[in-house]
Amino acid sequence: MIVVTDASEMQKLCRKIKLQGKTIGLVPTMGYLHEGHLSLMRRSVEENDFTVASVFVNPTQFGENEDYDTYPRDLNRDIKLAEEVGVDAVFAPSAEEMYPIGYCTYVEVLGLTEVMCGASRPGHFRGVTTVVSKLFNITQPDRAYFGQKDAQQALVVRRMVRDLNFPLEIVILPTVREKDGLALSSRNTYLNDEERKAALVVPESLRKGKELLQSGERNAAKIIEAVKKVIENEPLARIDYVDLRDIETLREVETINGPVLVAVAVWIGKTRLIDNFVWGDYPCFGKC
Ligand code: AMP
Repeated sequence: MIVVTDASEMQKLCRKIKLQGKTIGLVPTMGYLHEGHLSLMRRSVEENDFTVASVFVNPTQFGENEDYDTYPRDLNRDIKLAEEVGVDAVFAPSAEEMYPIGYCTYVEVLGLTEVMCGASRPGHFRGVTTVVSKLFNITQPDRAYFGQKDAQQALVVRRMVRDLNFPLEIVILPTVREKDGLALSSRNTYLNDEERKAALVVPESLRKGKELLQSGERNAAKIIEAVKKVIENEPLARIDYVDLRDIETLREVETINGPVLVAVAVWIGKTRLIDNFVWGDYPCFGKC
């Protein structure tokens, strides 16, 4: 496996691979890899001739008072794990490499980015779509792999790919969880023991929502209320949002009669956790 830090070197390598008629899979990450990331990499290795995993803590997707400086980093460990699952190249540029002095170009998806995490984290998705566009141009992938854990991000990127005619497929894979149900996240490392226990309220609250849907409830407000109530019972938890939205448009729905995304963002102490599930038949999430 090769490790590349220089964008033009990475681009040259990928161009060479494409000229050989080979397919490229890209797995964008911010590193501190866990099984969630590795599941995407394994799938990419299966489906493509050459897999690039990027490891880049992208400053433009963090707000001023967010955790850019403290975000966990361990590139050597990431390189080892990526190699173990068969990744061919790790692209690990510096912030200066991706955003040199004078940098002033951004990519923005409207609408889908104005709600949920976009409302809580202004500018976040602009940073995401900008860096992902750059990664697409650098690595020229046939497929790029994203986790359902960040469902809104996956939908926003897929919209961008369609709108801007990026010649690639977005593959969205299921959320990988701990045995007790907590979604894997690099940010889980921020939680102390007490907070880690309290964090279970996140999957628990979603289970409650799913239960209601399974028992036939179709009133969105009632489901949201029930999910909120579970979270409010945990003293260490503070709700950022609980939302139930149309999976395609991310518009709020009153009555559920098509596939919807049920998503929550919850503060546990100083750590913001997100999680979601999709209700209804929507083959692009989890199944394909
Ligand atoms: P991150 O490093 O947090 O930016 O995540 C990089 C990619 O891994 C994104 O597409 C995430 O959605 C995905 N990812 C993160 N956590 C999980 C998880 N628990 N299960 C599946 N995919 C995940």
